[in-house]
Amino acid sequence: MMPELPEVETIKNYLKRFVVGKRILNFENLNKKQIKVSENDVVGKKILDIERMGKILIIKLSGNKNLTAHLKMSGQFLYFPRNLEKRDLKYARAIFKLNKGYLVFNDVRKFGWLRVGNEEIQKLGIEPFSKKFNIKNLEEIFKQTKRPIKLVLMDQRKIAGIGNIYANEALFLAKINPQKPANKLTKSEIKRLKNSIIKILKRALKYEGTSSRFYLKPDQTKGHYQEKFLVYQKTSKDCPRCGKKIKKIILGGRSTFYCPFCQK
Ligand SMILES: [Zn+2]
Repeated sequence: MMPELPEVETIKNYLKRFVVGKRILNFENLNKKQIKVSENDVVGKKILDIERMGKILIIKLSGNKNLTAHLKMSGQFLYFPRNLEKRDLKYARAIFKLNKGYLVFNDVRKFGWLRVGNEEIQKLGIEPFSKKFNIKNLEEIFKQTKRPIKLVLMDQRKIAGIGNIYANEALFLAKINPQKPANKLTKSEIKRLKNSIIKILKRALKYEGTSSRFYLKPDQTKGHYQEKFLVYQKTSKDCPRCGKKIKKIILGGRSTFYCPFCQK
């Protein structure tokens, strides 16, 4: 599983506390294939702010330079207020030495990336916590395709930030079958889905995201939404709404969990 909006937003919030205002004294790139950032881009620069768009983190530096980062499957941004030890660096792909402490980009699977510039952000669809995330725009997106609604929710070029976990959870809350063709959703279903997405994302943010295998917050502690799942990974468990059994299917290559009785 990949960090989604609530995980990346949580990382952003922690990094704002830990690294904003600090200066980069040194930079080490340990995976040049995925980390397209050089010493010249960052050394001597001050970290002005951290932002997020969809699942992408934006590190704003002095000198009008932005870094963008995607964690993909297993990327982590960890902040160490102390000196680094060998065990901290087993999966380190980039190390920023700051005027106080270190910011380390870890990545076991090595699909995550860091780049200079905004190019990747421009490809993203609507951000759920923005004014553009409204019924009119969602109707426009959904009516164009008969693809299953769950796959449309996860399409980052349409809506940015929702991945497999929160698509499953939001569709359950909205009582919509994940396989339903997007262009068959009624206006009241779209309204329910919009509200459910916001509700689930806010709830996941409250628990600071889902920690399964890799996701850690920058202080190396875990999120807790995995203890609150409604249907995700609940195959054959009782539906929390109607009590019948949760079913698992594969949709677009991804595990999909839903209640065939109350999701229509
Ligand atoms: Zn049910």
